[in-house]
Amino acid sequence: MKELDGIANIVSAARSYFQTRLAMGEDSIVLGAGRGRSRMAERSPEETLALLEKRVARCKRCPLHKTRTNVVFGTGSRKTGLVFIGEAPGRDEDLQGKPFVGRAGQLLTRIIEAVKFDREDVYITNVIKCRPEGNRDPLPEEVDLCSIHLAEQLEILKPKVICALGRFAAQAMSGLNLTMASYRGENLFYRGTRVVATYHPAACLRNPSLKRAVWEDVQKLMEIWKNA
Ligand code: SF4
Repeated sequence: MKELDGIANIVSAARSYFQTRLAMGEDSIVLGAGRGRSRMAERSPEETLALLEKRVARCKRCPLHKTRTNVVFGTGSRKTGLVFIGEAPGRDEDLQGKPFVGRAGQLLTRIIEAVKFDREDVYITNVIKCRPEGNRDPLPEEVDLCSIHLAEQLEILKPKVICALGRFAAQAMSGLNLTMASYRGENLFYRGTRVVATYHPAACLRNPSLKRAVWEDVQKLMEIWKNA
């Protein structure tokens, strides 16, 4: 039985590996002694991202696929090198298949515009790509299973700096388990890329006094971005 489990794990790991390589733009992967080279297609990062989005749209890695209306992959541009990452899609996002389109999304748009960018200039996504029912917190196993998609996205986007919106995103990006106030005071990194953590726009809607802190964090974000 243990041997069967071992084989299943190897098959699963191999499948993930080849899916990642294909999503990264390889047309085909040649196996065999002396023929281990792969043919890397001349794809732009945008084309590679679009391919990955198509694959994630079919994802059934965790039970959240059963209750979703749409996979919410992410939107925007990689050209500025600014990536905003929230927790998970809510009801509006699930219905429209786009991140941050509800009231919290409108506030995020205003925050982005306050630093002289259009929303389309930056890339916006979530840690989890499908809506947890009732907007509950995603379970650790759901985060584990979905994290490969975000990792692949960030590998393609190659951000200069990441803005983690809320404690959940800050935890997922930094691997640390801190309070929101502590995340804000730390120099955080995701695989060598600076992460600036701030309050989720939804938290600001519930408690408008947090907006000042968000403004300070966004200034810090822009300072790091300019020097990256
Ligand atoms: S939440 Fe992520 S891992 Fe789960 S089904 Fe959706 S895309 Fe797949």
